[in-house]
Amino acid sequence: MAPSPSTLLIHPDFLANAPAHDRVGRPIAPAIERSSTYTLDGPGAEALATGVGLREHDVYARFGTATTRATAAMIAALEQGEAALLTASGMAAITTALTSLIPPSGRFACANAVYGGTESVIRHDLAARGIETSRFDASAPETLAAILDDPARKPDLVWCESIANPLMQVARTRELAQLCQAAGVPLGVDATFAGGVAQHPLTLGASVVIHSATKYLNGHSDVIAGVIIGAAAIIDRCFKTLSHAGCSIDPQAAWLLQRGLRTLPLRWAQAVGSAILLAGRLREHPRVRAVHYPGFDPAGLERAPLTSPGAMLAFELEDLPTAERLLERVRLCTHAPSLGGLETLLCSPVKTSHTQLDPQTRRERGIADGLVRVSVGVEDPEDLWADLDAALAP
Ligand code: PLP
Repeated sequence: MAPSPSTLLIHPDFLANAPAHDRVGRPIAPAIERSSTYTLDGPGAEALATGVGLREHDVYARFGTATTRATAAMIAALEQGEAALLTASGMAAITTALTSLIPPSGRFACANAVYGGTESVIRHDLAARGIETSRFDASAPETLAAILDDPARKPDLVWCESIANPLMQVARTRELAQLCQAAGVPLGVDATFAGGVAQHPLTLGASVVIHSATKYLNGHSDVIAGVIIGAAAIIDRCFKTLSHAGCSIDPQAAWLLQRGLRTLPLRWAQAVGSAILLAGRLREHPRVRAVHYPGFDPAGLERAPLTSPGAMLAFELEDLPTAERLLERVRLCTHAPSLGGLETLLCSPVKTSHTQLDPQTRRERGIADGLVRVSVGVEDPEDLWADLDAALAP
């Protein structure tokens, strides 16, 4: 029987490289390979001359090193993909995937609710390449079906987030993937909020997955990184763009990411348990107008499917000044952007992740001025609640 993913994250070479376990004096922590360049006396010379296999050999660190390849392999195994490519940030992963998979003057279909940075790429970079974008509701697959059926809008790539930022809408990923497969169009999924644990979109029929590895995969708020996972042919296309743009990951960041990955299942379990508790208590709080948390809709989780509701939630207060007061008052929770780290972070999406959207568009998307987004960390949940409860007091 193959070991479970949580065991393989701690022993990534267990299946592939069993003889290493026989070595005497084997280091327990992996070594870091920092060299920027390599002697051209091995298969790397052939790879450099032909461009074939460049991402698999020691040639030049912009194309990868043993450390980046080992970390990418761990994430490919975690997401059950054939191959993975590490990037310098989550945005580098998104931009690389979109510009590799949508040709100039092509068409794109994107879910309505996505990260603000992805919105900026659509409005600026894709528009500048003559790419037209249609929008759909990822929780209503029929809205995507209408686009796929329309010859004037049929896209080269469809995109959604497993759980969307900042209102935690859950995509019906399996049904979206089925529609895309029937239409012969690849589906890309930003699975950052699913943490590499709650959903593996490639197993549901998606063609490509990205993560901001800055978040749960690393989990320690000390690395900026991204990853693209998919079939080798797709990763090869993305690798070409990535090596031109040069937004490869640094080996040190890849090593830290590898270290963070080893505790992912533990961190995830603790954070999700606390998020369930906090979401329930916030919903009962008289000053909280609404709480957005996937755990309140078990049927939605099953339909997605997601094996857990995640550790991100958002709640609405009366208005922006009330939200800002709460952000100033918390002592244990921290007012900061980002998510997926050990620490519980709070932010106002209007002032951070979705500041690019004009107020009218934000209103149309249900992003209230008094919305507070919470990335629940791994602290004791009762301490977190005491802090939030005190900060919510009139
Ligand atoms: N995707 C999602 C869902 C995000 O929330 C973020 C950042 O917050 C990104 C992508 C971009 O990741 P990075 O900040 O690592 O570039």
